[in-house]
Amino acid sequence: RFRAAVAAATRTVPGPNRHQDLDRVPSGDGFTWSTDSDPALPANRAWAREVAAAMPGCRLGATTLGTHRVGTVDQADAAVAASLAAAPRWEAVGAARRAELLREVAAELARRRGDLLAVAGHETGKVIAEGDVEVSEAIDFADWYAEQAELLEQVDGARYVPARVSVVAPPWNFPLAITTGSALAPLASGSPVILKPAPQARHCAAVIAECIWAAGVPRDVFQLVDTGEEEAGRRLISHPDVDRVILTGAHDTAKLFRSWRQDLPLLAETSGKNAIIVTENGDYDLAAADIVASAFGHAGQKCSAASLVILVGQAYRSKRLRTQILDAASSLRVGGPEDLSTQLGPVIEPASGKLQDGLTRLDPGQNWALEPHRLDREGRFWSPGVRAGVRPGDRYHLTEYFGPITGIMYAPDLATAVQYQNGTAYGLTAGLHSLDPGEISWWCDHVDAGNLYVNRGITGAIVGRQPFGGWKKSAVGPGAKAGGPNYLAVLGAWRPAPLRT
Ligand code: GLU
Repeated sequence: RFRAAVAAATRTVPGPNRHQDLDRVPSGDGFTWSTDSDPALPANRAWAREVAAAMPGCRLGATTLGTHRVGTVDQADAAVAASLAAAPRWEAVGAARRAELLREVAAELARRRGDLLAVAGHETGKVIAEGDVEVSEAIDFADWYAEQAELLEQVDGARYVPARVSVVAPPWNFPLAITTGSALAPLASGSPVILKPAPQARHCAAVIAECIWAAGVPRDVFQLVDTGEEEAGRRLISHPDVDRVILTGAHDTAKLFRSWRQDLPLLAETSGKNAIIVTENGDYDLAAADIVASAFGHAGQKCSAASLVILVGQAYRSKRLRTQILDAASSLRVGGPEDLSTQLGPVIEPASGKLQDGLTRLDPGQNWALEPHRLDREGRFWSPGVRAGVRPGDRYHLTEYFGPITGIMYAPDLATAVQYQNGTAYGLTAGLHSLDPGEISWWCDHVDAGNLYVNRGITGAIVGRQPFGGWKKSAVGPGAKAGGPNYLAVLGAWRPAPLRT
């Protein structure tokens, strides 16, 4: 049932991912499935059994999903030393062979799609439909960076010098795609990589590491160093021999990393507070579907999520649009990833602090168009929330909450709507729903964000087609976009070719 459902979900995934068939049976190599450890989601026990039954090679009745060791400061130092020693060898391997290895990683990821989905669901609460797209994206990253590495080596008149040691710190919310993409990019460019997994998604990182090693990337060229939140993590990030740190995470994490080492060569994608504008010339049916998908996909836990909706003039007054948004949101099936029909999964940790506020506290003058409800004792499962009456400068307008919540703003015209859209400290994604070419081109010229989407949802950037990265507080460092044509070049350093006499 698991495989059939995953296959069905996969066939409906849009986009150019070429690895969409699941005919190959997931292997389950190296992993055991928890039935009585203390899983985040109690219902996972049943699900783990089901997944395990679908995976030959999995041991039933095991007590752990995996085991991990948290590295020490000495181990962090040793990892950097091993990378340094491996660097000349990996550079000398050449782009063609590195590309071959990355394509082999893509094949491994496809082969272990079931494992990756199961681990991501079990460990981070990611629902199957969202996890499946992630595996495809991870595969796309492998193919894309393989091709880019080959192109980079063909540039005339300059020599590309890769970083000697790259440290990669991916987020828990895209534990498959971003972990894979940000590890493979420096590898493709010729730099050894030390992957420091997000503590909430360390087992996802372990399966990805197995894929990378199984493809033939040497163990000293790609290392997995799980440092938890400990001193060792700080050592790894701030080590003077590290040439490049790639981070996806909160803006405050980037600031913390910089406080550890001022001259940190950081390339970071950090946070967003993103809005979709719908004008009077928008297709309201399409807009409603895109708003709901962008606001509540992965329970709103995406940097790219639409946590603001700005309705212009009659669009604000349209009963049809309002009803469509609220009906679609309230009909989302909330549940755990063990239920294959779940559309809105849990949040990563029981809501508290800022997220709890976002889900329960209105700013003055706001009201609930759809009030979110806590559905379990701990506060992991929430029905989706839509707040109305959000005004410019409200706490909700300016704060990223990272949960299943969005807010509606009114704007009298497009110029004012763009002012509100640009009025936050962030600039990651932005959306416009309008069928008017004049409005579209005006909007494109005036919006301050890295990824602009017209008549489309604002999450789910496609590798190679919608390179992903932000402006303002959504990025730190040189601002190269993941999955784009200049990403690898930015990771290393260009030196002029020696003059030929
Ligand atoms: N790349 C993802 C997207 O386009 C978002 C990544 C993130 O949340 O950091 O939706």
